Amino acid sequence: MKTIAEQLKSVYQAIHNCCVECAIEHKTHLLAVSKTHPFQAIRDAYQVGQRAFGENYAREAATKKAELADLDDIEWHFIGPIQSNKTRLIADTFDWVQTVDREKIARRLSEQRDAALAPLNICLQVNISHEDNKSGVAAEDVMALAKQVHSLPRLTLRGLMCIGSATDDIAVQQAEFTTMQQLFNQLKQDYATVDTLSMGMSGDWQLAIKSGATMIRLGTAIFGSRGK
Ligand SMILES: *Cc1c(COP(=O)(O)O)cnc(C)c1O
Repeated sequence: MKTIAEQLKSVYQAIHNCCVECAIEHKTHLLAVSKTHPFQAIRDAYQVGQRAFGENYAREAATKKAELADLDDIEWHFIGPIQSNKTRLIADTFDWVQTVDREKIARRLSEQRDAALAPLNICLQVNISHEDNKSGVAAEDVMALAKQVHSLPRLTLRGLMCIGSATDDIAVQQAEFTTMQQLFNQLKQDYATVDTLSMGMSGDWQLAIKSGATMIRLGTAIFGSRGK
């Protein structure tokens, strides 16, 4: 059994190799998805230099954050679906929210973000797989939602996020990532704060990096399986 530190070092090396191979010049950030794993797992990853952690459940994250209050430069990213009755806890707990897909949620997050804290960093989640039951804004509505988020005082628009289709079909994955890259480039032209394209998970992160991802999100590869 490899330790979390060993797994994380292998992941850093694999990302580095992929970036060299694809001649990627920008920095590719790793979001360590720690949902359902105990706070000690986060501490172990922190020791090796990991700072950005992704969580899907606001209450679980708030508990872990309290346990880890001595590690003050952790960056907490919310990556789960957002219910409107959870926006206050999310606004209080996180540094980033990657799953904003409607104006109502954006407005609540901005209203509820403590004025003493830095503005909340926001990525818009795009429903790139066109599945009706998936969260995310439709590609054709991204620019309109971006405009609304940009106008809210306690939010900083940072970019886009997607969860690719659960498929092994490389052509489908590639088409989705290419659409995301085009949307991202368009958004960057309009907003100077936009610098993040969060896409790529365990099964598709190499392709995501080749397609311009600036952040990939890995859980199992670092912390092991989550069980059930
Ligand atoms: C859980 C999750 C991940 C990480 O998934 P793994 O399969 O454990 O790597 C990435 N992104 C989102 C949005 C998730 O919910």
